[in-house]
Amino acid sequence: MQNGARHPHESKVLRRMVDEYLIGISPTVIAQSLDADRVPPPRANRWHATTIRAILNSDRLHLQRWDHADQRPIVGSWERLLTPDESALVHVSLLTPRRDAARSSRTLLGGILRCGRCDARLVAGVTRHGKRIYTCRTASTRCPSPNVNADQADAEREVAALDAFAAAQHPDVPCAQDLLRRLRTARSNIAALAAAFGAGDLDHASFLRMRSPLANELDHAGRDLTTHNRARILMLEPAEVNRRWGALTFRRAMVCALLPFDQLTVRSGLPRPSSAQDSGGTTPGA
Ligand SMILES: [Zn+2]
Repeated sequence: MQNGARHPHESKVLRRMVDEYLIGISPTVIAQSLDADRVPPPRANRWHATTIRAILNSDRLHLQRWDHADQRPIVGSWERLLTPDESALVHVSLLTPRRDAARSSRTLLGGILRCGRCDARLVAGVTRHGKRIYTCRTASTRCPSPNVNADQADAEREVAALDAFAAAQHPDVPCAQDLLRRLRTARSNIAALAAAFGAGDLDHASFLRMRSPLANELDHAGRDLTTHNRARILMLEPAEVNRRWGALTFRRAMVCALLPFDQLTVRSGLPRPSSAQDSGGTTPGA
């Protein structure tokens, strides 16, 4: 590396990381895919999620080297890799709690589908007859929700995601810089509240009351981030979506970003045929 210019190969890897991250793919999954493609890691013998997060969070990536002596950023000698909005969105993603697309990547919908009865995330499983299912299992309670046929659920959501991609208009996205400012403010206010509560300056009821709108603000930021993820997916060329469709993590990102909440919530079982209601006298749950 000379005169602050990035090695072309390095730029390509950084660009790939950012592009994956900004459609909702987690550092863990990005690390796995870099290993799978034999991209040499900076140090160790494989990529780690912590390395990816450190790179995504580095001043270098965001075009601001920090002058430790003068306590100010050095701007200018690096070629620009991210737009200011992308830079803000990477920071927003790093500050936002992990979301759906980031979870387990062994199945399309494991950890993504929600139980309409108890709101828990469904997990993937296999029945003793070898049928793939999604099921609601919480540690403490046994949820009476019926299992979902996983092959059928996957196929339906895949079609829905592709339809949404083909049909969707580019969404209006909230200003990325503003989103980052709101998120940082909410987080620092929550930290200040927690400190005041810890120091005994706030009683518990006041703490909860004051915390609630800030927690809502964080939720809202998470939804705004998903809108940005969706917008970036919708900007992809159809040919690229086709090419990447074979990758499970990409399909998970598509499903999370493009399908509305109610399509990812499983109401108690399939709708019953109307005759079932007329038959009368059947034991519930039989
Ligand atoms: Zn449940």
